[in-house]
Amino acid sequence: MEKIRNFCIIAHIDHGKSTLADRLLEYTGTVTGKDLQAQVLDDMDLERERGITIKSHAIQMDYTYEGQKYTLNLIDTPGHVDFSYEVSRSIAACEGALLIVDATQGIQAQTISNLYLALENNLEIIPVLNKMDMPNAMPEEVKDQIVELIGCKREEIIEASGKTGLGVAEILQAIITRIPHPEGSPTQPLQALIFDSEFNSFRGIITYCRIINGRLKTGDLVKFVNTGKEYVADEIGVLRLRPEPRNELETGDVGYIISGIKTSSEVKVGDTITHVENPCDVAIDGFEEVKPMVFAGIYPIDAEDYEDLRASIEKLQLNDASLTFEPESSAALGFGFRCGFLGMLHMEIIQERLDREFDMNVITTVPNVMYIAHTTKGEVYEMHNPSDMPSANALDFIEEPFIRAQIITPADYIGPIMTLCLGKRGILINQQYHTGGRIEITYEMPLGEIVFDFYDKLKSITKGYASFDYYQIGYRKANLVKLDILLNGESVDALSALIHFDNAYAFGRRICEKLKELIPRQQFDIAVQAAIGAKVIARETIKAVRKDVTAKCYGGDISRKRKLLEKQKKGKKRMKQIGNVEVPQKAFLAVLKLD
Ligand code: GDP
Ligand code: MG
Repeated sequence: MEKIRNFCIIAHIDHGKSTLADRLLEYTGTVTGKDLQAQVLDDMDLERERGITIKSHAIQMDYTYEGQKYTLNLIDTPGHVDFSYEVSRSIAACEGALLIVDATQGIQAQTISNLYLALENNLEIIPVLNKMDMPNAMPEEVKDQIVELIGCKREEIIEASGKTGLGVAEILQAIITRIPHPEGSPTQPLQALIFDSEFNSFRGIITYCRIINGRLKTGDLVKFVNTGKEYVADEIGVLRLRPEPRNELETGDVGYIISGIKTSSEVKVGDTITHVENPCDVAIDGFEEVKPMVFAGIYPIDAEDYEDLRASIEKLQLNDASLTFEPESSAALGFGFRCGFLGMLHMEIIQERLDREFDMNVITTVPNVMYIAHTTKGEVYEMHNPSDMPSANALDFIEEPFIRAQIITPADYIGPIMTLCLGKRGILINQQYHTGGRIEITYEMPLGEIVFDFYDKLKSITKGYASFDYYQIGYRKANLVKLDILLNGESVDALSALIHFDNAYAFGRRICEKLKELIPRQQFDIAVQAAIGAKVIARETIKAVRKDVTAKCYGGDISRKRKLLEKQKKGKKRMKQIGNVEVPQKAFLAVLKLD
């Protein structure tokens, strides 16, 4: 136990977490030669491509310091707010954290939100100033920011570069000398914290855990406290570059358990593993069921693909328990599924995986957050879909989820940001000036408002200079209405949205205009209307056109004519027939891109 160090890395995206992790693995000889491909920790295609770490993993290194051999466990954490619960459990499995700050960028929003999680868990923080090799590094200025933020001594900040390897030895030394070794009692009943799990098509679910107290041997009969399920620990081991089986895991160790579990929903991050015989008295603090917060319908473009789509989503769910789904049908889109996601990034990831890994062609409807409806009869229920909205006379009130958002920006952009946040029903909570002309602003805002293009707008009005992060702070009452969209008098359920009353008129007008742009003219006029209940609040007309694609062929070349007709047919495939109107796929997401 005295020779173990468990740590994680916290950093804003792109500040160099993965690169520096690679350097540590290289320096300690954990990866060599052929295994040394960039960014070992991000092993999913999609992660590598987008350069983000989606799921947390862990890796063990050996390091000899002053003649003593140490075991270092690096627990990687996902870098996005959608996965903040997983981040918090990974952090809870550590005693220390490297706080990496890009010397050219300074402290950003995510640096701060993850730092708070680490401080809450009493982690020892080792500040690292990365990218020191870059000519535009501003070490003195960023050091001021770090000192101000965590109250450390200036000399404690390690100058480093994931590119040149500067500072890597010093970081390893600091991990050993500054981070405390794990505490806990080997003689107490077993308590192991689950911080992650992974689906393996040959082995089933691999559960990653940190032993807090006691010890675990191969073949032990264990129980997962919160799910109450029992398993045999068929294989246990540690996480080197690949899993390496061991006979025993001891207090302080980080490792894995394989116990014949087939689906990830049985393994809940934050749960406690104990022995069936001689169990621990209490579970480890901080367990929460993660709940999806953003919902959207996913429909096959081709109705025949419905069963394939179900099979694909089921497969995705095997290794992603936070994805939920239930069958749903839409008058406009036919049969599909209502899926629940942790957030917008999670939704994008699932969409992309359906496309890439399963070759599914789908339409995704306008996402909405989870609302809570209270009826006049005193019933309370979760709304996952605008169609769950109770009728006007049955509805008492609705509650919507709120977040606390942190934005860090150069002072020049403060005006436009405040206008943006106000438009999103933001409430200004705090404003704090940092060194280097930067401001940290804190807002409370409805989560539903940032689902719609908030981040893109923030980036564009600040030329990419502002950073943004948030966490949820519970539900509040809201005056929401259901806005329906009608095409030629027919309501299109897949285009309905729940929206704040104050924004409904402007929103209705903009969406009608946008749909007018997106829906191609057809052989008759199409009325596009927005309505609240029976009341139409906006209208546009798409004028008829007679689209004769063969006109420019001068009646001559038959094969050319046929090709054009075939092309037109293909073009149609990506359309959905709503009543007598053909609606292109992108129209279903039009509300996300309103200016
Ligand atoms: P992460 O998002 O925190 O994991 O960041 P990455 O490790 O993926 O790094 C983001 C980008 O910065 C990549 O293009 C890296 O090659 C680059 N990078 C990371 N560390 C350094 C460094 O120390 N110096 C320089 N010049 N570039 C770096
Ligand atoms: Mg990374």
